[in-house]
This record gives sequence, structure tokens and C-alpha cells, in this order.
Amino acid sequence: MILLDGKETALKVKNTIKEAVTKHKGNGQRVPNLIAVLVGDNKASLSYVKSKVKACDMVGFDSSLIHLETIITEKQLLDLVQKLNNDTAVDGYIVQLPLPKHIDENKILLAINPAKDVDGFHPINIGKLALNLDTIIPATPYGIITLLQEYNIETTSKNVVVIGRSNIVGRPMSILLSQNKPYGNATVTLAHSRTKNLKEITQKADIIIAAIGKAHFITADMIKENAVIIDVGINSIPDASRKRGYRLVGDVDFANVSQKVSFITPVPGGVGPMTIAMLLKNTLHVYEKRIGMSIS
Ligand code: NDP
Repeated sequence: MILLDGKETALKVKNTIKEAVTKHKGNGQRVPNLIAVLVGDNKASLSYVKSKVKACDMVGFDSSLIHLETIITEKQLLDLVQKLNNDTAVDGYIVQLPLPKHIDENKILLAINPAKDVDGFHPINIGKLALNLDTIIPATPYGIITLLQEYNIETTSKNVVVIGRSNIVGRPMSILLSQNKPYGNATVTLAHSRTKNLKEITQKADIIIAAIGKAHFITADMIKENAVIIDVGINSIPDASRKRGYRLVGDVDFANVSQKVSFITPVPGGVGPMTIAMLLKNTLHVYEKRIGMSIS
């Protein structure tokens, strides 16, 4: 079994980004600028956005966190989005999800300038993805593709089962893997909570991508020998042996599943770091488009 090391691969991606930023600076350009907007005090969200801002520092981007109180109105958030759209010093920004219930996420998403939508969640960007056009690819699926490529895992003609059909992970993942591209050409099954006989489907899969949000959902009896397992899930389970009283686990029963597979991502240290690295890569792309040059 080979561990798909997301930390290591993400570091490689970040080092390439850092080099590009250094070159741009050397050419007298400003550095890329990414803004993260967080509404409310969801601990997990705060920790994610902080990691994103920290990663920006590592690669030499300008970045800041706009942290707003939960009571902010939808109109106030829309005004902020408009301000960020018009701010020429901002290359890209993200509005961390989920938003408080009184704010319509779709309204906010639609208001974001697609050219600054470094999460790749705007319908225009998702639409371009579905049409195989050049676009901003959502960071988590982009990270998974990059990880598969890093380990030379072939997807062409493979049976891939993606479990979970969210707009940010499962659905774009299924689109990417079915595209006629070197990283695609797979036969993709997109499973969800209404899928019948999931075990029969996963047992035939060469590659399984689990994006469900349920701890240890994928068990060893659900997979075939030598399958490739990508675990997107981040679930917190009680753990009295930890100071904080919990630990993070994926959607896959790692201890048992890892005995049977050819490749598997750990949680943490698999897909998570890749997501952050690809957000930075998306930001570099939109920045290079804006300044009209690319170094690669
Ligand atoms: P969502 O809650 O939006 O989607 C979960 C999906 O799982 C839904 O499509 C749901 O089906 C499906 N599902 C739920 N129960 C079952 C079941 N019993 N059988 C089959 N399918 C089921 O989650 P996200 O996509 O946003 O996130 C999934 C997980 O990935 C979470 O743990 C999240 O924290 C993590 N995550 C990790 C990231 C990373 O960087 N590592 C990034 C983003 C998310 P239905 O549509 O029918 O309800």
C-alpha cells in the first residue's frame, strides 16, 4: 500500500507558486492578493480560513481575513462582495461556506465576479467546467486530480465511483474524471444517499472518491483488492486520549481499508492540504491573467 501524501505534494505545488511569485516580483510586478471572507464563529471554518491565509504568507501572496459577525445582513454581505469585485487590488476572494441560515448562499455566490471566484463555485465557472472550457476548477477536485497525477495513477478506462454529489466536491469531481483529458476518461458513477446497493457498486470500483461526511463509512468489505481510495471526508469523533477531546478522521475506515488497497490518502494529510494548495494555484492563475503574463 502506498500512502498518497497530500502534505508533501501540496508543498511541491506551493514551492512552484512561490517561485512564480518571486519571478513576478523580480519583474517589478505586485504580488497576488487573496481575501478570505468569514461570517460567524464556526470553529472549523475559522480554522480552514486561517490555514488558507497562512498558506498565502508561505508563498508570498498578500492576503487578509475579513471576519464578520453572524448578525451581518445579506445586504451588507452583498455590498462587501460588490466592493471586492470592484477593488482592483484584489485578485481573488473566497466567501467561506457555510453561511448563517439567514443569508442565501446562492445569492452571494451569484454576486461574486466569476473572474475573481478562486473557489470556482460560480455557475459560470461550473458551467465552463461542464463544457470542458478553460475555467477555475474547484480546489478540492483539482487537488485530487493533481494528487492522482503526482503518483501516476491512471484514470483512463477505469471504473471510478464518486460518493457524494455536492456542488463543491462530488459533482465537479465526477465531471473532471469523465472529461476527455489525460486526467479523465474514466467511467464515472456518482453515488449519493439515494443510491441502492452501494456496496455492489463500490466493489467494482478501481478508484473510490469518498466525499460523504460520515466517519468510517467506507469499510474494507466495500472495496476490491488493490483499489485506489481517496478520502475527502473530515469528521470529528470523540477521543478522550487527546487534549482537545476529539480527533479528525475521514469517511474511510483507514485501519482496515488500507490493508487491501494499492493507494490511499490519509486524513489528515491527504486531500486537505491539496485543497489549500490548489486555491493558491487558482489565485496565481487569475492574477497572471490580470497582469497579462504567466511564468511556467
Ligand atoms: P455535503 O454534505 O454537501 O454532501 C454529502 C454527500 O454525501 C451528499 O451528496 C449526500 O447525498 C451523500 N451521502 C450522505 N449519506 C450518504 C450515504 N449513506 N450513502 C451515499 N451517499 C451519502 O458534503 P461536502 O461534499 O461538502 O463534504 C463531504 C465531506 O468532505 C465532509 O466531511 C467535508 O467536511 C469534507 N470536505 C473536505 C474537504 C477537504 O479539503 N478535505 C473540502 C470540502 C469538504 P445526498 O445528496 O443525497 O444528500
